[in-house]
Amino acid sequence: MLPAFLDSMIELITRTSTDLPPDVRAAMGLALASEAPGTRAGQALTVIAQNIDQAESCEGPICQDTGMPTFEIKVPVGANQIWMRKQIREAVAEATKRGKLRPNSVDSITGVNSGNNLGPGTPIIHFDQWEEPSIEVKLILKGGGCENTNAQYALPAELDHLGRADRTLEGVRKCVLHAVWKAQGKGCSPGAVGVCIGGDRTSGYVHAKEQLFRTLDDVNPDERLRGLETSIMEEANRLAVGTMGFGGATSLIGCKIGALNRLPASFFVSVAYDCWAFRRLGVRLDASSGAIASWLYRDGNARSKPMLPPEMVASGFPRTGREISLSAPISEEQIRSLRVGDVVLISGRVFTGRDAVHAHLMKHEPPVDLRGGVLYHCGPVVAKEGDGWRVTAAGPTTSIREEPYQAEILKRYGVRVVIGKGGMGAKTLAGLQASGAVYLNAVGGAAQFYARCIERVEGVSLMEFGTPEAMWHLEVRDFPAIVTMDANGNSLHRQIENESGVVLETMRGS
Ligand code: SF4
Repeated sequence: MLPAFLDSMIELITRTSTDLPPDVRAAMGLALASEAPGTRAGQALTVIAQNIDQAESCEGPICQDTGMPTFEIKVPVGANQIWMRKQIREAVAEATKRGKLRPNSVDSITGVNSGNNLGPGTPIIHFDQWEEPSIEVKLILKGGGCENTNAQYALPAELDHLGRADRTLEGVRKCVLHAVWKAQGKGCSPGAVGVCIGGDRTSGYVHAKEQLFRTLDDVNPDERLRGLETSIMEEANRLAVGTMGFGGATSLIGCKIGALNRLPASFFVSVAYDCWAFRRLGVRLDASSGAIASWLYRDGNARSKPMLPPEMVASGFPRTGREISLSAPISEEQIRSLRVGDVVLISGRVFTGRDAVHAHLMKHEPPVDLRGGVLYHCGPVVAKEGDGWRVTAAGPTTSIREEPYQAEILKRYGVRVVIGKGGMGAKTLAGLQASGAVYLNAVGGAAQFYARCIERVEGVSLMEFGTPEAMWHLEVRDFPAIVTMDANGNSLHRQIENESGVVLETMRGS
């Protein structure tokens, strides 16, 4: 029918997953410039900038969590949407096979991964008709970590630190600030929020996500919402949550607000939080061939402007000389000497484990000896190469999901280091202290950067859980991360949450 349509969709998915749009690059460039080199946020943002450039140059996923593919499509009247839907599904499966998307669609009841990103509800495809002769396809890839920080408020509501949020724009302001504060670093800040005022619970979330298709530098045509967007940006960045929740000047890179009519009895404020790995692109297609006529959000096929000079990308982690090198297996004494804020470089054997592995370890012995070991909350993208494997993307996943299990696993199996992102709760903090272990926060989304710290894949266990959930045995060198929860009962996450809560309190307004 449209001979080039399938290839155009594969090209759109590939670009979206591997090359951030110029407006997001510009916002992240400003974030980097706002932090002093050598600070926690400065180091993390340099890693992020390196990662963005590495992903573009090797056409690898920017983040290992390639998210829920969501397509927004406008077609001329009479276009065959049934055929296009089938082609898009085929393109998603092909992009997954090529390693541009991680297999990310699991059966919600059995937990079985479909392996090709296809299944009920995956991918999300919305069609609209328009009176233009061309086809427009926009795509956003929004990962699980930031999706889990979405929030919906039913006003009036009482909010921590902010008091009552009424059914007014002032109440909306409080809700958005509350959502940004609540997210801390869990959604890989600095992030952007799409907001919907009104609608019902379902349409509110859909419209909030649709706001993320606006560029970060656009101007809201509604003057009232424009003012609200500006003031929220200014106030949210005063919270000093910072990159990955490490503290710092930039917590939010965008705030886009829309409104829908509502029932008189309801007043919802829906907030869709997207991470710094804000992957959103689009194309206009020739409606007779399906070929790409032009790109949206980017300057045609021209290469993206790099974030950093090439020598800075090649130089690896920006060291200050204060980094502490550790080789696994690691002794309890070494671990107990670490303090919150220390930057460590891990070398040696690291085992990945996320939701399925943690649930498994509560009922079964581990397939490997974890004593003195490093457990990495990560669901990598892995390619088969001959008889072996190669990791092509391997950033940390959100750790808080393992909170019910982590302390018990530390105690039972002698794990000394947990690496993840976003921090963990009070139970794990107590477990770290009791067992002599630390939690390290790696830079979320830096999948290409961390893949380059992996020298070899030594093996894999529990492959029956699927690629992202299996336990991969990785040999790493100088893998950088920051101690954010130590074995002495200290937590940087708790500290930043408390400090930013005090600032939030000053934003109660009238
Ligand atoms: S950058 Fe962080 S929140 Fe975003 S998709 Fe990657 S892991 Fe998830």
